[in-house]
Amino acid sequence: MSASELIISGLSATVAGNPILNGVDLTIRSGEVHAVMGPNGAGKSTLSHVLMGKPGYEVTGGSVTLDGADLLAMPVWDRAAAGLFLAMQYPTEVPGVQLRDVLNASIVTDGVDPADLDARLLAEADRIGFDHAFLDRPMNVDLSGGEKKRNETVQLSILAPKIAILDEIDSGLDVDALRDVSRRVEAATEESALGVLVITHYNKLLDELRPDHVHVLAGGRIAASGGPELAEELERDGYAAYTGASARPAADVDPDWDPFGDATFADRSL
Ligand code: ADP
Ligand code: MG
Repeated sequence: MSASELIISGLSATVAGNPILNGVDLTIRSGEVHAVMGPNGAGKSTLSHVLMGKPGYEVTGGSVTLDGADLLAMPVWDRAAAGLFLAMQYPTEVPGVQLRDVLNASIVTDGVDPADLDARLLAEADRIGFDHAFLDRPMNVDLSGGEKKRNETVQLSILAPKIAILDEIDSGLDVDALRDVSRRVEAATEESALGVLVITHYNKLLDELRPDHVHVLAGGRIAASGGPELAEELERDGYAAYTGASARPAADVDPDWDPFGDATFADRSL
């Protein structure tokens, strides 16, 4: 298996005319796990959408290549065929379309015999404790948040991309599912040398899916990079050091104030 490389260079993008990304530089190679963290609204999902080619974003500068091929020039399906996978923060519901039909079409397009797809689907579902009944549901329809994330993980496992972007794949997962999903992705980094860009707010995911590099996305660019210790620092201290804001909201309300207690406003020195 040849090594792959996703190179993001000086990537800038606007959404509805607002600049969100202002020169993102990031390189992800086969087998590596890169965690991207950052405050709400920093542009983490925007980055994932721009990489995959979701409509509505205008790239205003920079380049993205996967093994030398210009991803930004390709429609979404060619990016997927080239080996890029995105697990969306909010997976889309697709009524009337079953997971196995989507995967069957993808596999056939890839020139792979789909004969053992059902067996592989069942095995992958078991591996992350995903109820077989959900495999027959229309894509993501009436699935809970956590079930959608496991559905995405099953797709990732079957499609075996070169590089996967996981946008808050941990949101909505209970502790058992979180462990199973992160272990499954970590295994893919070893079994098929998957390169991973994982967007998360929590170290819990990174306990099993161990990052080689941790980055802070703030101000539209990678504001800092480090090892796993950076994720611990961020969980503890927040992003204030990278945004210029104070670490916690200003304490304008006394946390001990009981509005139903005896105290009146006159008693309080607010
Ligand atoms: P994150 O994932 O880091 O929380 P997002 O990438 O989702 O942040 O959003 C970055 C900024 O872009 C936010 O201020 C958000 O409101 C804005 N944004 C995202 N999508 C749109 C859109 N379709 N139209 C207008 N603004 C958008
Ligand atoms: Mg997001």
